[in-house]
Amino acid sequence: MLREQPWRRFVVGFSICANQLRAHYFDRSGLIISHPFHIHQNMGPVLLTEMLGTLTLSDIHHLGFDPTIHMCNTACTGTHPNLAHEAKGWMKDNHDKTYSIMEVLWKSHGLFCRGTVCYCVVDEAGNQYALKDCWVTEEKRMHETTILEMVKGIPNVVQLVDHWDVYYEGEPDSTARICSQYDIGHRDDLMFRNRFHRRILLSPCGEPLSKFSSRRELLTAFHAFVVGESY
Ligand SMILES: [Zn+2]
Repeated sequence: MLREQPWRRFVVGFSICANQLRAHYFDRSGLIISHPFHIHQNMGPVLLTEMLGTLTLSDIHHLGFDPTIHMCNTACTGTHPNLAHEAKGWMKDNHDKTYSIMEVLWKSHGLFCRGTVCYCVVDEAGNQYALKDCWVTEEKRMHETTILEMVKGIPNVVQLVDHWDVYYEGEPDSTARICSQYDIGHRDDLMFRNRFHRRILLSPCGEPLSKFSSRRELLTAFHAFVVGESY
């Protein structure tokens, strides 16, 4: 789920194996699995139904969906009048500025890591940017933006346009905050590394290498860079 829906803050799920039910919880800091409950001896059919109800009827924000981003499904694609043509979703910054998500350019495959996702976005004026979304540890929280500030103004180097902590209910979002809401209380665990949710807006937004139609086209582009630079 985190691979297919990397814009989720966390994932909650249940599994049943050999009549044993377990609750599973994943976020970018790690995974927690409950002790097993025997679905016949420890739980009646009512509790089992309540478990199913938890997954199917609860507010989607309680299932880990982030209110600052929306990715369209087949039912709602094209129904958002304020988005750019052919947008696949939207994202809001901390000042309620909305960006149309045009494409997911790249997403990481690891579960318990930065969970980086890169989007191609456009603002309401039609300007195109690359937006990087990631979960970083406290010591790396400003690392990338500090480097980007240092290289600001160098020609042909990607430019930092904006960056922000993603807020959830008025506070910067982090995995420690998510866990505290769910009363998991393992923050004293030395294995636990808190991760903060960050977004970085960059310009320009290039074409993914995978979009080149052939190796020859790709190599010709690199050749042109070298020739162009040598002049
Ligand atoms: Zn939609």
